[in-house]
Amino acid sequence: MRRWWFLLPFLIGLALGWARRAEGQTPVQLADPRVSYTFGETLTIETEVQPAATIQRAQIHLLPKGDSVQIIAEATLTPEGILTYNLDLSTAPFAVFTAVDYWFTFTLEGGETIESRRFTFTYADNRFDWRSLETDEFAVFWYQGNDALGGTILNTAYEGLARFRLQVELPPMQKVSYYVYASAADLQAALPFSGPSAGLVAGHAAPAANRVLVSIPTGPSQTLEIKRQIPHELAHVLLYQKLGEDYSRLPSWLSEGLASSAELFPNPDYPLLLDKAFQRDMILPMSALCENFPVEAASFQLAYAQSASFTWYLITQYGDEGINALLKAYADGFGCERAPEVALGRPLTQLESEWRRITFNESPLRTALRGMLPWLLIAGVFILPLTGFYLSERLRKRPLFRKKRSLTQP
Ligand SMILES: [Zn+2]
Repeated sequence: MRRWWFLLPFLIGLALGWARRAEGQTPVQLADPRVSYTFGETLTIETEVQPAATIQRAQIHLLPKGDSVQIIAEATLTPEGILTYNLDLSTAPFAVFTAVDYWFTFTLEGGETIESRRFTFTYADNRFDWRSLETDEFAVFWYQGNDALGGTILNTAYEGLARFRLQVELPPMQKVSYYVYASAADLQAALPFSGPSAGLVAGHAAPAANRVLVSIPTGPSQTLEIKRQIPHELAHVLLYQKLGEDYSRLPSWLSEGLASSAELFPNPDYPLLLDKAFQRDMILPMSALCENFPVEAASFQLAYAQSASFTWYLITQYGDEGINALLKAYADGFGCERAPEVALGRPLTQLESEWRRITFNESPLRTALRGMLPWLLIAGVFILPLTGFYLSERLRKRPLFRKKRSLTQP
């Protein structure tokens, strides 16, 4: 081994020489590009490339970090070598605050294709002047309100983290960034959502990017909103940090339920909303909250209220061990109904019955009847009409028989 050491400087020199030659031989020279955009409207990337005459075709590739789908498009090249690319941002090709890698490919006269080095820009929401405050665990960005706002949000994030750690076992934390909008309208304009529930979005987590967007208007309810939204969205990100891609296997009721349970000031409307729904027999089956929540406004709120109440019931009954076992069962791919049975020994519907009994003081008879409802429906649709038909046939035949007999009798 030792005899190779004297060759090391020679080998390094050789490698560097190759690198230099390769760079020197590059047939096109590209200047550092300039990126400019109006948020949600148009993005322009401009640079200069020489010698332009040898280039037959110039293309740009854009790849948002964490994404696997590239945008590949033609770039415009003038004879003077000015290379330009425009992108319509109104279709929301990138999520806000995403880092986007981009590079060019050039097809030369002889058909040879060469690829440029890579560049990156961050698609920030540049409608506002953001202020910031950072620690190892959190970065807070905000544009309205005084300097104290950033500090309050930071402290609340730490409080939320401590509370969530009591419920869920977490891996070492990756830094989480908060972007604090001053109104729901400002936030909603930054998100690609549409449809009836889009106007209800007050906060949004991009868990895979460790990013949280919240809307916290100034006013009397600001402190309460901070205590609600900051830990709620953090919980979504921390669940992703724990489960990775398997986070998407969690039923909505559990991820929203855990996030709601992490809030330092729970939504005061939920108990009333639940009570009303119970009185009107409008509580949604938990199995209906495994996938997406209903989009209609009233059911949307009720879905959150139920998820929070049901998850809180599980936390109080089964503790953090039960919750961690449940998270693992869902992450392992067990279904919405089955995972609770694997983790807690009871399927979802049974837990739901127990939750209803304890939360709404539902009588065991009503619980039993509700459990029998599908069978009662089957009975109503099939068995009862068949029984009715059978009986009517019997009744119809008997008098006829008797009549006939009576006719033949003297
Ligand atoms: Zn949520």
